[in-house]
Formats: sequence, structure tokens, C-alpha cells
Amino acid sequence: MPKLRFVLGDQLSTALSSLRDIESGDIVLMAEVGDEATYVRHHQRKIAFLFSAMRHFAEDLAKTGACVDYIKLDDSDNSGSFTGELERALARHDIDGIVVTEAGEWRVMEMIRGWSRQFDLPVEIRADDRFLCTHDEFAAWAGRTKTLRMEYFYREMRRRTGYLMAGPDEPAEGRWNFDAENREALPPRLEAPERPNYPPDAVTQEALDLVRSRFGNHFGSLEDFDYPVTREQALHYLGWFVAEALPKFGTYQDAMRQGQPLLFHSHLSGLINCGLLDPRECCEAAEAAFHEGEAPINAVEGFIRQIIGWREFIRGVYWREMPGYGERNALDARRPLPDFFWTGEIDLNCLKQSIEETRANAYAHHIQRLMVLGNFCLLAGFDPREVQEWYLVVYHDAYEWVEMPNVVGMILYADEGLFASKPYAASGNYINKMSDYCGSCAYNVKKREGEGACPFNYLYWDFVARNRRHLARNPRTSRTVATLDRMSEAKVATARADTRRFLDGLTSGGDY
Ligand SMILES: Cc1cc2nc3c(=O)[nH]c(=O)nc-3n(C[C@H](O)[C@H](O)[C@H](O)COP(=O)(O)OP(=O)(O)OC[C@H]3O[C@@H](n4cnc5c(N)ncnc54)[C@H](O)[C@@H]3O)c2cc1C
Ligand code: SF4
Repeated sequence: MPKLRFVLGDQLSTALSSLRDIESGDIVLMAEVGDEATYVRHHQRKIAFLFSAMRHFAEDLAKTGACVDYIKLDDSDNSGSFTGELERALARHDIDGIVVTEAGEWRVMEMIRGWSRQFDLPVEIRADDRFLCTHDEFAAWAGRTKTLRMEYFYREMRRRTGYLMAGPDEPAEGRWNFDAENREALPPRLEAPERPNYPPDAVTQEALDLVRSRFGNHFGSLEDFDYPVTREQALHYLGWFVAEALPKFGTYQDAMRQGQPLLFHSHLSGLINCGLLDPRECCEAAEAAFHEGEAPINAVEGFIRQIIGWREFIRGVYWREMPGYGERNALDARRPLPDFFWTGEIDLNCLKQSIEETRANAYAHHIQRLMVLGNFCLLAGFDPREVQEWYLVVYHDAYEWVEMPNVVGMILYADEGLFASKPYAASGNYINKMSDYCGSCAYNVKKREGEGACPFNYLYWDFVARNRRHLARNPRTSRTVATLDRMSEAKVATARADTRRFLDGLTSGGDY
């Protein structure tokens, strides 16, 4: 008897576990549903990208002979939910079982777990082996370690995959990690390479028109949409990245330049997360470039670490800590997120640039997310739930499993250092060192207090004073607390008063 194989929108891979043993007579169900597009009001570009990628994938799958039942968002009877579409599909097809690859998010997994009872059919939930580390393997590793630190997890993944290994316990070029070489600012005359673009075809145009009419009031812009949306384009983009940008990816990984959102970054996260690219093939392409002498070790090691290290680690943390992880708020941050996160109307140039680029591209690179926007959210004490929602809405690569630990653990320290060894708090000095933002800013990065001073400078000391108790007991931040204690009372009071004046001047509560 035929099976129904339900493929979700971030499972766009023909090698997917739920499609592996597909037989003639089986039905592949794919559905664009309103619930998923609106449970948070995703960036317009993110919705258009995913609908276009889903439609292209369904076409490619059908060409292999699979029987694909594809439900478009504007199909007249679309029920608006995965469960509703499954119910309708079961009425259309004679089916004796459902096969699905586990969902990336807790919320959707809970829904899938209910299907067997609800429809009185066997539901086989298969592991998502696009990830290199299973839930059990992560749990076993976490159980053997005293503190969850990505670096040790990463070394285990290097040993296990054999990527950049010279022997069973011997990393290529003698070191596990070349991060110390990856913190250079961008030399003024160094230009980022020009990227290939993929102009919308008829399928993408239809997705763009649909988003314009149905979600035109969501955050973000659809102008000049040119992101890869097919497997073929994704592979082309990966090849371009490895040849043209990877060689300098490592060295300038932390650098920021006004008007240049991508620099040498891969821009592959959206393609990997939705399934158009497999993380292994990305690592293998980068590793081959190293062995052929086309990219240096610091670049290739840095790139592979992000994928088999950070990406897998973050997913492991999410599943280990759910449910409830999103509610953590160790620093008791309660301030509402200000409106300018949606409008970009703010005179702090680093924030303005990062938000405007996010609005235009549904993308900002890691350091903008971490050390500009994230750092500001941490210092200002914005409510973790509101910050999570913002990050989930605005980035084309954002799914809860990857967004949540990056926000709760990495930027906000809301889990009290579950995996971050200290809060990533920094004054304006760091942003000035790594970018050209400060030169065109209304504020003076060198000024620490009073009118015209860079707000990051006083917010930083207010943050340290406000969270003194947490920071004093962490060996990596206790020296900062000691510095605070050596500052005069008047200086600390000024930083705190400047902070209050600045934060109270921000408005929040508008719609987006
Ligand atoms: C607050 C915050 C929120 C984030 N939210 C997301 C998100 O929703 N989705 C997402 O994919 N990434 C997220 N990241 C991680 C990272 O910023 C993006 O993966 C990266 O900027 C994507 O751009 P890129 O493909 O050019 O990455 P590159 O800089 O070229 O890095 C290569 C790849 O490494 C992986 N990677 C790197 N860092 C991380 C990380 N910390 N966690 C997981 N994967 C990583 C990505 O797959 C990325 O494509 C977040 C980071 C922060 C600090
Ligand atoms: S001066 Fe301060 S607020 Fe302005 S761009 Fe620099 S770090 Fe940002």
C-alpha cells in the first residue's frame, strides 16, 4: 500500500531520509501554509525565497518520476496548516502510512507526534541525517563534559568526519583552531568580489507577486531579489564562494564595511538550512580548495568550524534544552525592543547600517548580528522573547532551532553561560576597530560620557554595574568588575544617568 511522504519547506533535498526508499504509488506531499508564514511575521524576502525554492524543488522531484502533490498558498481550499493539509491529502489519496523526516523545530515536532493518534495511521518519523551529529550523539557528548563548550565538541566532530585531519588525532597544519588569525579589519582599498546573481524566473516571479499581495505589510523588501532558489543555482553559488571569497573569508571574517553586507562571507546559511545544499558538500568543497592550495588553512578551518562546529553544536543545544529554553532570562532583562529595530530610524550609524541591510537583504553577517545588534540588545537589557522574535522574523536563514540558542545563549547570556564562557559585551571601541561605521556617525566613539558620546560606551559600564553580581563570579569577566570598582562613584553614576536618558528616549510598542 502506498505511503504519504510529507516534505516540509526546509527539507528540500532529494537525499532526505523520508524520500530515500520512495516507491511507485507513493505520494510526496508539500504544502505552503499560512500558519507557517505568519506565526511570526517573517521578512517578505524569506517567504518568497522559501516558496520559490519549494516550488522549484517540487518540479525537480516530479521530473525524477515522483508523484508530488503540491499545495500552493493561494489554492482555494488551502486549510492554512500542516495538519489540515495532511487531513485533506489523506482524503484525496488511498494511503496506509505516513513517512516524515523529523522537523527542525520543537513546535512542529509536537504537531507531527500527534498525527498517528489523530489520523489512526502509522507515522514513521525518521532522523534528519543532513545533520552530522544525532540527538543521541550530542546528548552522549554533553553528558561526558563538565561544561558545554563548542571548541571541544568541534574537535570531536573533526576527528569523526576526518575533515582537515593529518592523522587520527592530528589536526592539519598542527592546530585545531586558527581563529586568532581571523580578526583583521578590512584594508581600505580591499574590495569584496562581485557576486553572481540569479534573476527571478517565472516561478520566482509568481512567488514574489504572491508575497507582495499577501504579506506586503511584513518587514523587509523584495527589491532586486536575486538569491539562488534551485539546487543547480545553489551548487553554482557554492562553487563561486569557494573559488572567489573563501580565500579571504577567514582573515576578514569579523570585519564590517558600510554598504557591503556580504564581504567575504559565504551567504550559504539559507541554502543549507532549507536543504538545497548539504553541509558535508560545503565542507568538502572548502577542504578540497585547501588541499589544492587555493585557500589558506585559516579560511578553510574557520569555515568548516562554523558548519560542523557551531551549526551542529547550536542545534544540539536547542534540542537538549527544549522546551523552555526560550523563556530563560538570567539577567532579568525586561526593556521592550524599540521601534527603530523595525524602521531603521536611529542615528547610531552601526545600528542603522545593520538594520537597513537586514531590511533590504534579510541578511546581516555574523559580526553585525553578534557584536552590533546583539551587543546593543545585551547592553540595553531588551526582553529576550522580543529579541528572539526579531531575529526569527528578519533573517532569511532563521529557524527556531538555530536562532534561539544564538540569541538566548550567545548574545543575551539569558541562559547564564550554558555555552558562552562570558557575555559578548563590548564598548564602541570594538565596532570602531572592525568597521568604518564610526566615521559617519552622529556620535563620537572616543567620547565616553555626556552629550555626543558613543552610547555603546556608557551602556557598557551601565551593563557591568547592573549585572555586577553575575559578572563578578565569572573568571573571564571578574577583571572588568574590578575595573568598575576602581572607577570613581561619580563616573559610574554619570554612565548610569547617560544610559537612562538614552534608553528612555527610545520609543517602543509600534506595529511592524
Ligand atoms: C544573534 C544571532 C542570531 C543568528 N541567527 C541565525 C539563524 O537564524 N540562522 C542561521 O543559519 N544562523 C544564524 N546565526 C549564525 C550566523 O550569524 C549565520 O549563520 C551567518 O551569519 C549566515 O551567513 P553566512 O552564510 O554568510 O555565514 P558564514 O559567515 O559564511 O559562515 C558559514 C556558515 O557557518 C554556519 N554558522 C556560522 N555561525 C553559526 C552559528 N553561530 N550558528 C549556526 N550556524 C552558524 C552557517 O551555516 C553559515 O552559512 C545567528 C547568529 C547570531 C549571533
Ligand atoms: S560611534 Fe558608537 S554608535 Fe556610532 S557607529 Fe561607532 S560604535 Fe556605533
